[in-house]
Amino acid sequence: MPVFVPSPNFDVRSGPPDMVVLHYTDMEDAAGAQAWLCNPESRVSAHYLIGADGKVTQMVREEDRAWHAGVSHWDGSSDVNSRSIGIELDSPGHRPGPPSFPAAQMAALLTLLEAICSRWSIAPRNVVAHSDVAPLRKIDPGEGFPWSQLIEAGLALGVKAVPPADDVTAPSLFAALNRCGYKMPDDDAEAAALVRAFHRRMRPDAVDAQADGLTLALARAFADAVAADRAADPHR
Ligand SMILES: [Zn+2]
Repeated sequence: MPVFVPSPNFDVRSGPPDMVVLHYTDMEDAAGAQAWLCNPESRVSAHYLIGADGKVTQMVREEDRAWHAGVSHWDGSSDVNSRSIGIELDSPGHRPGPPSFPAAQMAALLTLLEAICSRWSIAPRNVVAHSDVAPLRKIDPGEGFPWSQLIEAGLALGVKAVPPADDVTAPSLFAALNRCGYKMPDDDAEAAALVRAFHRRMRPDAVDAQADGLTLALARAFADAVAADRAADPHR
């Protein structure tokens, strides 16, 4: 059982959680992050904080709505806090390169995620990055996050290598990304941020690349994986 250090920064959910949002703290150490997430003046919190050493601290009950996602959108919903459990990974953040995550921290995350997803029947398609649900504002946990470990454990969705598509258009790309769960962009800034968020997740070595045939092929493959996950999900 994790240590419970209560944060006052929560309220009532509109329904049970069906998502997990992964964050990094972007702070010097876990003690400072914990103090901030429990400070009533910060107006932010998360359900869990995982130290670089793998120590897990819970700050908000899973039944309650922690304030971690901010203005966000996923899968047609803009109240991501009501739908999700938020996990903060102790990390100094991009400085400016993406951080990596120690083995002890990843082991603790996998154990915790397994328990959360089983407890609430959370599907792999809904285990996402903060940058996925708030592309214009957030870049955490960053392109250095080892999604492959979650994918291998059946806790998140990934895609296999695909050949580039040769029919790239903005509407086809954003329709595919929208089928993945991403918000349809309202303007050019949102569109560019969305491409970066998707690259951060699926092409970590090409975060700043322009959208191209590979971006579209990956978006279609991911959208197909999301559709298959939804079809197999009795709670969809
Ligand atoms: Zn975050």
